[in-house]
Amino acid sequence: MIIYKEYWDEKSQEVKFKEIEVADKNDPATIESNCTEFINAYYTDKASAENGVARFNKDIKAEKFFIKKCKECGIFFVISADEKQWYEDRGMQLPKRCEKCRKKRKVDKTNGR
Ligand SMILES: [Zn+2]
Repeated sequence: MIIYKEYWDEKSQEVKFKEIEVADKNDPATIESNCTEFINAYYTDKASAENGVARFNKDIKAEKFFIKKCKECGIFFVISADEKQWYEDRGMQLPKRCEKCRKKRKVDKTNGR
């Protein structure tokens, strides 16, 4: 089946979507392994994808969301304005790694590696 997956186009600084063929739309591994540029949601029909992407781009322009590139694995991830505020309130830098890599580092640290 075809799904429509959001991705971050670094060149144009915009969210776009592309059609990808997946065996099973409920299998996130299939979806995630296709491309490191992918962010967030996917859609099952084109009209929703167009609407969703348009809304997302508007929110990004309005600085409700920020797109960052993980320095470890290179995927793009989303930080919301609320999250950004949370870090700024504590005088902390914004995360440089995606959630997956952050979790992994935490586990590695706990294991004493
Ligand atoms: Zn990462």
